[in-house]
Amino acid sequence: MIKKIRPDRLVKAVEVIDLTQLKQSGIRALIIDIDNTLTPHHKDVISDSKLEWLKQASAQGFLLLLLSNNRIGRTKVITENYGIQGYGFACKPFSSYYKKFLKSSGYLPKEVCCIGDQLLTDILGAKLNGMASIYVEPISPRDIIFSRFSRWLEKRLMTRKGY
Ligand SMILES: [Mg+2]
Repeated sequence: MIKKIRPDRLVKAVEVIDLTQLKQSGIRALIIDIDNTLTPHHKDVISDSKLEWLKQASAQGFLLLLLSNNRIGRTKVITENYGIQGYGFACKPFSSYYKKFLKSSGYLPKEVCCIGDQLLTDILGAKLNGMASIYVEPISPRDIIFSRFSRWLEKRLMTRKGY
């Protein structure tokens, strides 16, 4: 279980992820978390640097999907404002939206990389579905109760794995 939630890579923020390198490693689609990965929690704005990175990803031909466990209404504000497809209340790490995405895109799990700030949802979801994963440091410390708990657990797990 612990081995399963070790991300392939850890980075400071999405915009430092090298898209060319990802492409060269065979990745063609990105499943990206919203809260604390693209936006601060409870905020609807994606910073210029992250937005530029998303535009670059799109321009390089990556298929993008925003996947959030937050409310459907909140997710819709982001997906509609920025014109990126996505789903709220996705129940990560459970498989249904990952499988739905693979079916609609036609990509293989190994061609998809999941990016997010939580091991127990974003990274575990990737692992359970055979996808690559990149853990990003959360944008802001402010969080909902469940996230606080899972982050406490993550810290313990990371310490045990020697991060
Ligand atoms: Mg998040």
